[in-house]
Amino acid sequence: MGSPDKNILIVEDEPKIASLLQDYLQAQGGFGSHIVSRGDEALGQFRRHSPDLVLLDLMLPGTDGIEVCKMIRAESDVPIIMVTARVEEIDRLLGLELGADDYICKPFSPREVVARVKAVLRRSAHETGTAGESGLELDVEQFTAHYQGVKLHLTPVEFALLKTLSGQPGRVFSRNQLMNEMYTDYRVVSDRAVDTHVKNLRRKLGEVTRGRELIESVYSLGYRFVI
Ligand code: CA
Repeated sequence: MGSPDKNILIVEDEPKIASLLQDYLQAQGGFGSHIVSRGDEALGQFRRHSPDLVLLDLMLPGTDGIEVCKMIRAESDVPIIMVTARVEEIDRLLGLELGADDYICKPFSPREVVARVKAVLRRSAHETGTAGESGLELDVEQFTAHYQGVKLHLTPVEFALLKTLSGQPGRVFSRNQLMNEMYTDYRVVSDRAVDTHVKNLRRKLGEVTRGRELIESVYSLGYRFVI
């Protein structure tokens, strides 16, 4: 199924990658697109085309992707997917809180990119809401959580995780960011500890949501709350 009315801005300085993306977005998603090869031209082209989504490479001539992301964010909530050449960079990008909606690492398969574009567009279409619309209610004074009226029995750490994730639906939180939310006494905890707490939280949520996944694992990045 195509979405011929959707228009993507591809900010990418490698011509081969840019045209490959353009072809796949058209063929697999029915998306129209425009290519910009320089960071310092991205904002002008963004204003000109008003795209539904921006695929934004990190390393660009003129202005880098981080600055471009900030400039676009200063004037728009358009979904942005950042493309990086190194997976280690993603954690740093998450830490900068640029407000990008997703991250893709090179080399990528064009098929994967199209799938991520579709997922982000789908999410952004539903994302006007708050966690409350998912049926979840948190009482931060009582430290209690209910899903559609059913009480969840959470540990303090699980409650903190749920509060953080559900506070910004759709946003990806890295394990590092979640660790900072979980512990205020600077205890050293491992990534694995975060995964264990999230796993327990998801199991408890799953019991009351009848299998509906409210917390999604984002491959190699972390976790996000979905409505
Ligand atoms: Ca580049």
